[in-house]
Amino acid sequence: MIETAELAARITGARRRIEAACHRAGRDRSAVRLVAVTKTQPLAVVRTAIAAGLSDFGENRVQEAAVKIRELSTEFPGLTWRLIGQLQSNKAKAAVELFQEIQAVDREVLVERVAREAEKAGRIVPILLEVNLGGEASKAGVSPGDLKNLLSAARRSPSLDVRGLMTVPPFFSNPEEARPFFRRLRELAASASESIGAALPELSMGMSHDFEIAVEEGATQVRLGTLLFGPRPA
Ligand SMILES: *Cc1c(COP(=O)(O)O)cnc(C)c1O
Repeated sequence: MIETAELAARITGARRRIEAACHRAGRDRSAVRLVAVTKTQPLAVVRTAIAAGLSDFGENRVQEAAVKIRELSTEFPGLTWRLIGQLQSNKAKAAVELFQEIQAVDREVLVERVAREAEKAGRIVPILLEVNLGGEASKAGVSPGDLKNLLSAARRSPSLDVRGLMTVPPFFSNPEEARPFFRRLRELAASASESIGAALPELSMGMSHDFEIAVEEGATQVRLGTLLFGPRPA
């Protein structure tokens, strides 16, 4: 398992690369958040991550995350947990209880379930809408053509705060080829924002192999797993 010093060095390396990408794009470094993706990593790795200075985490599955969040929440109340994977609608209640932000919302049924649970809990839940830009059947996300309807549905609920968009582009061994997808997400957010007359400030895009390109194209959150923690346990 990774040690605190090794992880701290990797975090520093990732932060430097984010900073350099910001610099190339003329962006302020503080505009990009590093979200550490701890899915499939044991609780001990999350503890090491906290010791190494991380406080913002992404998890894919509600049940797996619940164990970690419940275990750590009393001891570390300042952590931020983001759900970055597909939410099943029957887990909406737990997701609303556990996470500070729900990304990957891509269907009206999810919008409705999350909204209803948020309302019952008396909370306003920040969400991101996931867009499938590559048209890949294996990937989640609303198609760009259906984004406007989904956005309208989400904005009708006072218990949801639509913060922006999220995407996972097709995998390219040369990350430069992902650039048009990241750019497209930024453009979609800008035009949607203009048509609704409200800001959509968050762009969650970029993973270990392509985050620098995503930052150059406007990412406000990069989701890094492997780069920080190494290969995920099977
Ligand atoms: C697993 C995962 C990540 C992290 O991927 P790495 O390549 O390990 O950095 C980021 N985003 C989502 C949605 C994921 O499922």
